Amino acid sequence: MPRAKAYVCSLCGERWPRDPALEVPCPRCLAPVGVKCRRPSGHPLFGAEVHHDRDHEAMRLGKLKKCPGRPTPNHAGVAGR
Ligand SMILES: [Zn+2]
Ligand SMILES: [Zn+2]
Repeated sequence: MPRAKAYVCSLCGERWPRDPALEVPCPRCLAPVGVKCRRPSGHPLFGAEVHHDRDHEAMRLGKLKKCPGRPTPNHAGVAGR
C-alpha cells in the first residue's frame, strides 16, 4: 500500500497537503492544476514530479510562500518529491 506522502520543508518545517507546485498549472509542460508534470513522451519526470519553473510560478502566484529558514526564496527539500 503506498504511504501517504507528506510535503514538508526540511528547513522551516512548513507542510502542505500536496505539493504546492501542483496548485498552479505548469508553465513548462502545461500540466493542469493537480496534475504532475510529464515529459513530452508522456512519462513522468526523472527524479521529480514537477518542473522547477512550476515552483517559481507557484511562488509568483502566492501558492508557495518564501521560506523563512533560508535566504533564497526556495524551500529546501520538499520531502516526497
Ligand atoms: Zn511541468
Ligand atoms: Zn521552508
